[in-house]
Amino acid sequence: MTERKILLNPGPSTTTESVKMAQIVPDICPREKEFRDIMAPIRKELTEIVHGDPDEYTAVLFCGSGTICIDVALNSLLADKKKAFVINNGSYSQRAVDVLSYYGLPYIELKQPFDKQPSLSAIEKVLKENGDIGYVYITHHETGSGLLNPVREVGELAHRYGTFLITDTTSSFAMIPINVYEDNIDFCMASAQKGIMGMTGLSYIIGRKSIIEESAGYPRRSYYCNLYMQYDYFERTGEMHFTPPVQTIYAAKQALIEYRSEGEEAKWKRHQRIMNAIREGIDRLGFKEALDRSVQSGLVAAIKYPDDPNWDFDRVHDLCYEKGFTIYPGKLERQNTFRLCALGAIDEDDIRDFWKVFEEALEKLGVEVPVFYE
Ligand SMILES: *Cc1c(COP(=O)(O)O)cnc(C)c1O
Repeated sequence: MTERKILLNPGPSTTTESVKMAQIVPDICPREKEFRDIMAPIRKELTEIVHGDPDEYTAVLFCGSGTICIDVALNSLLADKKKAFVINNGSYSQRAVDVLSYYGLPYIELKQPFDKQPSLSAIEKVLKENGDIGYVYITHHETGSGLLNPVREVGELAHRYGTFLITDTTSSFAMIPINVYEDNIDFCMASAQKGIMGMTGLSYIIGRKSIIEESAGYPRRSYYCNLYMQYDYFERTGEMHFTPPVQTIYAAKQALIEYRSEGEEAKWKRHQRIMNAIREGIDRLGFKEALDRSVQSGLVAAIKYPDDPNWDFDRVHDLCYEKGFTIYPGKLERQNTFRLCALGAIDEDDIRDFWKVFEEALEKLGVEVPVFYE
């Protein structure tokens, strides 16, 4: 057995022993039929996780971390003479803005507060006033803050104004139940190390085939990161255009078996159970969160640093890390936070064990409990 570590960072997440071991396979050339036969069902199953009909939706696999999907989707799906429209209310939508500006592509950025749901009327106003929007982009779950965005409503608006929706579901896919039809999603994306509890290095865009096919005629802005090119190669050969992350794909195959046997609803219930145990500890120790719970995804808690002079995040981190628990710094601009995330192959008992270790760390540093804020 591998030593079990509890990762409370926002991915990669704790994996099962069986997913880890699935990577240990005889060497194989990924251009063999045997390997193609592994990838085809993975693409189908990823599409099914978000309830896409395989005749209408497809999953295109990429070798890279989740950011490759943001890059690919944004640069590949923008028609000539159109503008991207990004709703920016967190660090991951900021990343999308950065990608667009690196490519020098035209975009409209609607900045919204990081700690509230965005204004639908402000979004509608942009759509009404700009007839040249190529797509609307929103992050489903802003992993930096834990904010859950109203994808369904934004997708409905996108469709009403004759455009389509791309959403970054990297930190919600295979955790929060998603239905591309009910949620008005044309494109979503994720990474194997998060929701499906696989390994790093494999990421995927799931989206409407008709739009991908249409994008064959759009300007080609990247050689390696082009959605149509990768899709077309898969359709013609069953393979990734360039070398796939072989062992990670074996792990993904096993992770999807385990996803199916746990089940969509049961898995989401487990994540909620984990978050409840996280919140119990937050409340008991007197910590405060950056966001109101009513707007949170329930997968990430962004916790404010207390004002105790003995509080030292790095030292608390190190003391927890020594005992096998990883906690993570925050990602908010104007306040110091740390994050506890409900991802991965863990359950509420692991969180109870974590809080014991965390409390011992506070005691060691002389941080007063319950913690105080000025
Ligand atoms: C993890 C994550 C990504 C991908 O980030 P990488 O640093 O490339 O792993 C993208 N979007 C969201 C919302 C995420 O949580």
